[in-house]
Amino acid sequence: MSKVSKNLLNDSIKYSNLNGISGNEEVIALEIKKDLKNIKGIKFERDNLGSLAIIKKSNIKNAPTISISVHMDEVGFMVTSIDSKGFIKFSPIGGWWGHIVLAQKFIITTSIGKEYIGVVGSTPPHLMDRVKMSKVLPIDSMFLDIGMNSKKEIEKLGIQVGDMITPYQETAFQTPNKNRVIGKAHDNRISIVAGLEIMRILENEELDINVILIGTTQEEVGLRGARTSSYKWTSDVAFAIDVTFCYNTPGMKESDTKLGSGAALSMFDSYTISNKHLIKSVENIAKNNKIKYTFDSMTGGGTDAGAIQLTKDGIKVMTISIPSRYMHSHVSMIDLQDVQSVVDLMVLYLKEFNKKTLEGFKYK
Ligand SMILES: [Zn+2]
Repeated sequence: MSKVSKNLLNDSIKYSNLNGISGNEEVIALEIKKDLKNIKGIKFERDNLGSLAIIKKSNIKNAPTISISVHMDEVGFMVTSIDSKGFIKFSPIGGWWGHIVLAQKFIITTSIGKEYIGVVGSTPPHLMDRVKMSKVLPIDSMFLDIGMNSKKEIEKLGIQVGDMITPYQETAFQTPNKNRVIGKAHDNRISIVAGLEIMRILENEELDINVILIGTTQEEVGLRGARTSSYKWTSDVAFAIDVTFCYNTPGMKESDTKLGSGAALSMFDSYTISNKHLIKSVENIAKNNKIKYTFDSMTGGGTDAGAIQLTKDGIKVMTISIPSRYMHSHVSMIDLQDVQSVVDLMVLYLKEFNKKTLEGFKYK
């Protein structure tokens, strides 16, 4: 593996700090455009659900196209109602467990971009019996408190139904293990970080293929941006880069995939069975170049690949993942060495891929 690039640390902190739940990804899309604006030989395109494509064309005629999808949205909540006493009710956007929501700080972003920090109110333990204490409170009985007295006061601030709520963490940060970064939105901003680095490295490369990096929208609510973007920017082979579970913490089952274990090659998840040719060819590149990798399976959940594979008469897909502890919480943790492994693997794969490789993937 090559040395962990400095870009990965800086970008992992910057992108995790940005706020953007499903349907609210514009801040992230614009940041990506800004970060890549000086890269030569690429162009940007958008689709009508907000997905952003960064297109690098090959000079070769009829070159195969490989797309890499990285979803831009994160999980959060939306304001659903404000009661007369000034408490704010909310609904999950993406998967949340009530256990980790209570007594946490969140940011409400209004339609004009004003931000307010609130806390999810909790009952003091003195007032609860044992039965109540042993249960997880359903999210629909929780509320956000930003310290106001009435609905009127809340509305005066510009807060309304539909406003975005994101986990509040002052900033993502490096742990004493310098390769590990804790942030609220590594799912899936850390894959954007990998995508940006891949495009930077490829800037001066003449490839035999067209490469399209796609920042997709609305993955967390059902792979919606992946569906429209893969229709607009159809590819011969598509990768989704996303985070996967990490199993080396107390209470989790043992698995090879953990922080520091390298790129996780996804064999299957609830939506996708990765293409066999793709798995083999990616594994070969990893093996031949001594890039760390594990095989991974996610029995719950899926990635953009699940929607992409169903475009037109089908697209060969594979998910490559970055292990993450504590996914869908304020404090997910990744290891930058794994991000570097994914970058190295993808760059080498894209550099070696050509028409002949694609021919070899065809069904007889
Ligand atoms: Zn994700």
